[in-house]
Amino acid sequence: MKITDIKCAVLGENPIVRITTDAGIDGYGEVENSKSYLKPHVLFYKPHLLGADPTNVESVMLRIRRLGGFKPWGSAVSAIEMALWDIAGKAAGVPVYKLLGGKVRDKVRVYNGGVRFPMQGSSPADYAENMVKMKAAPEKFTIIKQGVGFHSAMPHEVPNFTFGEVQPSRFHDNRGLLTERGLNHVIACVEAMKSVLGDEVGLALDCGPGWMVPDAIRLAKALESMHIMWLEDLLTGDYTPHVSADVYREVTRSTSTPIHTGEQIYLRQNFKDLIEKHAVNIIGPDPADIGGLAELKWVAEYADLHGILIAPHGIFDGLIGLAGLVQVCATLPANFIAFEYPVARPDWWYTLLEGLPNPIVVDGFIQVWDTPGLGIRFKEEVAKKYLAKEDECFFD
Ligand SMILES: [Mg+2]
Repeated sequence: MKITDIKCAVLGENPIVRITTDAGIDGYGEVENSKSYLKPHVLFYKPHLLGADPTNVESVMLRIRRLGGFKPWGSAVSAIEMALWDIAGKAAGVPVYKLLGGKVRDKVRVYNGGVRFPMQGSSPADYAENMVKMKAAPEKFTIIKQGVGFHSAMPHEVPNFTFGEVQPSRFHDNRGLLTERGLNHVIACVEAMKSVLGDEVGLALDCGPGWMVPDAIRLAKALESMHIMWLEDLLTGDYTPHVSADVYREVTRSTSTPIHTGEQIYLRQNFKDLIEKHAVNIIGPDPADIGGLAELKWVAEYADLHGILIAPHGIFDGLIGLAGLVQVCATLPANFIAFEYPVARPDWWYTLLEGLPNPIVVDGFIQVWDTPGLGIRFKEEVAKKYLAKEDECFFD
């Protein structure tokens, strides 16, 4: 089998990759939403891929893997990798999880990252009210993640929150020491959320990046008795193009609250320090940024060898990304906690695909399906209506 074309169309907010072959089998991958600027980046790899046998996934990846980088520059490589597995699975007549070593679970736990309700403000009461709504969501999530600190509106809405210069944008680009008032505010909001969730639903907190080490340690220690699932990206993370393993280790060694990072990291080499130095308790790679499904699987196994847990990121990965997350997470060892559940945007995305369960999430889990490849098919006549003029040949 040979690759005959690589196409990329932006459908709604997500760039979609389609790889075609001379055997009439095609495969799909998806790039995180709000990244239409990555379409030319996907097509940059085309000359490297034409003529290769897509079912030798690793051999194809060796052609392009070193031509990627930390988020968002690993997205195109990752989406191509998922499309290759989709083809390989369809060609073999098996779901992708079989090619990744086989599943060890029939249903995969997800945590709530994507099902959101607008926040009325940043007070403890606002956080509690928001948590009531998320706890009542029909998906019945067993873990909910909420943003606090620099990963929330607090720097803008809480007076004298930080000694740092508050940046006008809200792209999580604030950084600095917190005031005592700021730190107390974060702790009060967490207490308010825990009063809603009790010990029925786990609470994870996306915190930064941007915290200074003394504040990070103070927060983690203050929350110890509340048994928070994890504190995510306190120091670095999100779009930070480095890892800071030694600095994370200082925080992690000082507290029993689990410390988490890794959503922006590309390739196993960049997880090496975090894992071997036991710099965090939980890693959170995104298959759409780390370099694909097999890369995430390898890193998960290596983390397990070191007693480190994994809760993959995925909030912006769309429905094809969701399919990839289910396939790979079905194969991960017992250090797997849950992956972050993405919601498709806009809503019409749910009318474009066949193959996903309906409803997708039941009691906080997604049932693993057994159809070949990623197990999703486009309803092309419906999807074509949403293609831009320049992409009208995407499904041809
Ligand atoms: Mg995050």
